[in-house]
Amino acid sequence: MSQYWSEVVHSLSPYVPGEQPKMADMIKLNANENPYPPSPQVLAAIHAAASGDLRLYPNLENLKQQIATYYQVLPEQVFLGNSSDEVLAHTFLALLKQDLPILFPDITYGFYPTFCALYQIAYTTLALRDDFSLNLDDYLRPNGGMIFPNPNATTGRLLPLSEIECLLQASPDTVLVVDEAYIDFGGSSAVKLVNHYPNLLVVQTLSKARSLAGLRVGLAIGHKDLIAALERVKNSFNPFPLDRIAIAATAAAFNDEAYFKQCCSAIIVSRDLLVDGLEQLGFDVVPSAANFVLMRHPQHDALEIQAYLRSQAIIVRHFNQDRITQHLRVSIGTEQECATLLQALKTYIAQNRPSVAALALPY
Ligand SMILES: *Cc1c(COP(=O)(O)O)cnc(C)c1O
Repeated sequence: MSQYWSEVVHSLSPYVPGEQPKMADMIKLNANENPYPPSPQVLAAIHAAASGDLRLYPNLENLKQQIATYYQVLPEQVFLGNSSDEVLAHTFLALLKQDLPILFPDITYGFYPTFCALYQIAYTTLALRDDFSLNLDDYLRPNGGMIFPNPNATTGRLLPLSEIECLLQASPDTVLVVDEAYIDFGGSSAVKLVNHYPNLLVVQTLSKARSLAGLRVGLAIGHKDLIAALERVKNSFNPFPLDRIAIAATAAAFNDEAYFKQCCSAIIVSRDLLVDGLEQLGFDVVPSAANFVLMRHPQHDALEIQAYLRSQAIIVRHFNQDRITQHLRVSIGTEQECATLLQALKTYIAQNRPSVAALALPY
């Protein structure tokens, strides 16, 4: 079978998203999905869009104008794609495939090395500090481009906008992509900088803060020349990545600012309560501005905790990666879900002796 594969297919190591188990009444905290449903206005817009107009190709112009107004930029500074993963894929090919290696953190969104393999882009990873903070001084070296999420994926740590601005000032010759999948849970968006830095591309998604992971819509904001590059790639691949239903739903999502803000606030409240509870149980929790926390218990093995939680129908994520093998990443659920998780962890800790595997790892 694999004799028919092209050479590049043999070399790929595809990204593996958090699993979608089929389990009744599970508490699903493994994929950073939003525990709250999308805005009722979004659902109404989807119903209304299911009409005879589906015979027509979609048109993005009004939505681009709406999003441009929302972010105070021009429509030609807005790019829309079928998920931010797709927007990122186009970005890697359109802007980050250069002579020099691109730079990103050693612990970050696992899709970046996958895109590099797909497009044969050389990259160098730069180690986060021991506390998992990003040291932007490391990025002041010749490079073909730079990309990191803010807050960072897997860790949840946030960089202040001032540090990002310093990096942009120091590196006018290469593109910086800031992946803001989690920015609405407590960070300040770099979108306000795009009109000052023509080498800044900000990527966002409707999957996390806007509760629409199932809709698959992502976007990028930047200088019109960066957006033009993305459009060239997109129009060489699929000129209509958003269907009419997704366009209507996205417009409604950006219209219902009150609902959006309310969901983000509820997640932040749950996150604060969860972090408190985890620390009381002895967990070390990386400071998070995202809708998840990365945590580790100094005495208990991450995989054993994960297996126990699964037996209680609570699904969390473990990454088999250097430096975080004893960590778990837990998405922020509703207050009730967080309370159930804390109760399960309390039971586990009370019933289990410290684990050799956890104690063996240097702290
Ligand atoms: C979830 C996530 C994405 C992907 O979002 P989609 O729009 O659902 O593809 C991109 N970047 C980071 C850092 C993420 O965590």
